[in-house]
Amino acid sequence: MHGAAYASFAGVSRDDVHFQSGESDLTHYRSSTTGKRSFCPTCGSNIYVALDAEPDVLYVAMGVIDGNPPLPRGYHIYVGSKAPWHDITDDLRQYDKAPADEDGDADQGTQKLT
Ligand SMILES: [Zn+2]
Repeated sequence: MHGAAYASFAGVSRDDVHFQSGESDLTHYRSSTTGKRSFCPTCGSNIYVALDAEPDVLYVAMGVIDGNPPLPRGYHIYVGSKAPWHDITDDLRQYDKAPADEDGDADQGTQKLT
């Protein structure tokens, strides 16, 4: 949970994630049996999510990305449990849960930012 209607994350190869500073200061919290979340210990900003089943990937909170990187087309996950007052108005693919839970295509969760 993050307290908002939705959050935007990008699945990035762990080898391609480079911190300019502060990585050793991050606070890590096991938020479920499947993964952990990492936060800024000063302001509480969500930094990334790491899933045990995908050890080579970090799901980086897009709010911490500087600039305007080119992004692949995204998709919506956990639509089956979204807030009823939030309408999704774009045409991106929607999953009631995570893609791997529905069609076994876990690769859709990792799209390299280039
Ligand atoms: Zn901070």
